[in-house]
Amino acid sequence: MECERCGSPSVIDRPYDGSHPCERHFRASVRDRFRREMHRQFPRFSGGRIAVALSGGKDSAVALSLVHAYFDRRPGAEIVAVTVDEGIEGYRSATMGKADELARRLGVEHRIVRAKEELGATTDAAAARLGDAQPPCGFCGVWRRRLLNRAAREVEADVLVLGFNLDDLAQTVLMNVVRGDVDRLVRMAPHRRRQPGLVPRIAPLATVPEREVYLYARLAGIPFDHSECPYAGRAARNVFREVLWRLEETLPGTRHTLLRTRTKLAEALEAAGAGGAPVLCERCGEPSTGPVCRSCQYLDAAGKPLMEVSGSWGP
Ligand code: SF4
Ligand code: ZN
Repeated sequence: MECERCGSPSVIDRPYDGSHPCERHFRASVRDRFRREMHRQFPRFSGGRIAVALSGGKDSAVALSLVHAYFDRRPGAEIVAVTVDEGIEGYRSATMGKADELARRLGVEHRIVRAKEELGATTDAAAARLGDAQPPCGFCGVWRRRLLNRAAREVEADVLVLGFNLDDLAQTVLMNVVRGDVDRLVRMAPHRRRQPGLVPRIAPLATVPEREVYLYARLAGIPFDHSECPYAGRAARNVFREVLWRLEETLPGTRHTLLRTRTKLAEALEAAGAGGAPVLCERCGEPSTGPVCRSCQYLDAAGKPLMEVSGSWGP
């Protein structure tokens, strides 16, 4: 196939909008969508720190590269990449190597936060202890969010950029709808306002499908790690991924529609009081939706002595 804009060989077929761009127009379209989302999700920037969650995988690597290019000519912007080491033997060390390579290439400050040091727990140890009772992505994701938020707050970041792509977000919308979790549907990124203790999270790759993020990373020569987490097969979202693939095949554009629907719903639900404001966890002092945050509850379940944990965080 040929690019509909210039006649050069196309690099991708996009059924959801009927286009099949060449490399040049494909890469430009990813940058355009990223820029549009940056303007929409983070409209008032007048200098400050931008924290970027960097795992070393394709999504966060592309997000950091585009954030770097976006703020390159804006005075007063300082970018800090943050990598969380959850403690997953044989997996995280490889992705962290790529994260470091990219941060160095871009000349971006890179901070590494280790769950073992900050929480006294690792995903491996908790997974071994909890066995089949608890899919590891549940506690691993909660702990990572807590560590990322804290790191972003410590560097006084105005915003925390996440590499979530269109597929990730559409899956999350569907999961929250199926579970009837209206509050989480409202609270999911991108955040429109600042809440006490929480650095607003934005997702400027929100309208770029996962395979386009991958293709962009390959074509742009962005270093990233290809390996998959050993626990990924147990993730609850896998079934939603499959359902969405099938829906997208039959009804191209489903993922975009889900995301737009969520935006409209969140506005109406927020106006009606859903989502709520966070309180501070009585054990660790981090933002929470109840007296004890989910991170502390998971630490309880994983058998970590809580005194040690609350001491390391402080109110
Ligand atoms: Fe953690 Fe699950 Fe991601 Fe693995 S796939 S790093 S267990 S959230
Ligand atoms: Zn807590």
